Amino acid sequence: MALVSASALLFTGCGDSGPGGGTDGETETGSMEESTTAGEGTGGSTGAATTEDGTGGQGGTGGTGADTDDGTDTDDTGAGDGCPADVFLDLSSAPGAGDAYPDPVLEVECVDDKLLVHSNGIPHYRFIPITPNALVEQDFNWEITLNPEVAPEPTDIPLLGLVGFTVNGLPFFGANEGPQPADEAFGDPIYNQIMDECLGHTAFSYHYHALVERCLIQAGVVDEPWSNPAPPQGEPSPILAFAYDGFPIYGARGCLDEGCAEVVEYKSSWVQIDDPTQNAWDAYEYQASDAPEQLDRCNGHYGPKGDYHYHATAGFPYIIGCFAGTPGEGVGGDGGGGGMELPQCEPGQTMCCGDDVCDGPETADNCPADC
Ligand SMILES: [Zn+2]
Ligand SMILES: [Zn+2]
Repeated sequence: MALVSASALLFTGCGDSGPGGGTDGETETGSMEESTTAGEGTGGSTGAATTEDGTGGQGGTGGTGADTDDGTDTDDTGAGDGCPADVFLDLSSAPGAGDAYPDPVLEVECVDDKLLVHSNGIPHYRFIPITPNALVEQDFNWEITLNPEVAPEPTDIPLLGLVGFTVNGLPFFGANEGPQPADEAFGDPIYNQIMDECLGHTAFSYHYHALVERCLIQAGVVDEPWSNPAPPQGEPSPILAFAYDGFPIYGARGCLDEGCAEVVEYKSSWVQIDDPTQNAWDAYEYQASDAPEQLDRCNGHYGPKGDYHYHATAGFPYIIGCFAGTPGEGVGGDGGGGGMELPQCEPGQTMCCGDDVCDGPETADNCPADC
């Protein structure tokens, strides 16, 4: 848990033109909120997450935990009506990030055609600092459509900030870091090894740049999920996350045919062509392939049942490469949807530290929060 070069690894959000086209900073704030509810409306997940072959999850076998705090039943938000609330983890018995942190809070419900997720941004497992940024409680309120549609053209994911959220209620970002440290500017954070064992880290809020299945399943609601055995290779992966366009993201393994006679590991079709220490999106190139286990530019495909979805992959871009659907409001920036508003910096200016100061450099005067 080395704190590597604190000043060098401050993940400031200096907006810059970059391959992803975003200008928002990877900085976040959040208000404090006390709550003890875990898993409201999750339908009492027992870990039987929905997998690509349709087993588990929607079976309606009830649950062992995660009662709602208001005593209402969860039938209207649970399985059977297209609401995926039951794929979220039951965190009611989660060990949490450590004694110094609040318990994780995750509340999920479906209202009309929207999936609503509230989270306090605290991991359900022990927090091991990798970056110098503290783990701070958040007030995330995410909202995605329950009826995603593939758009005529894909949309770039933001260069920095929210791309979607995981089934344990944490945000995930794209496959690059921010402009600091300069010698790893916009580099691939997996390649640069600045992630913890669940491939998350903090930049004010805790977020992922890749997904580790054993950390994002009900059996992973333990203190050190990374010590768990690898998931069985012959079974399709469950849903691990949702992109902000509403499409689910499964783990790497999926069915090759409708009857799921064969399970394969789906693979990114992005190929490394340069050094991803910096400018990750220039260091990889999408190379279309007709091989059935190769995914599209966005790291998704139409599965054997005809539905579009993404797969998290071992290789870049790890989670998604673009939005195949239409992302909702709240993408990029603070990762929170309803958190801070980032300043609109003019072209050529940079935005530092998420403190509404445009045109750095970052100094103790304009970035008191972390300088
Ligand atoms: Zn990061
Ligand atoms: Zn699939």
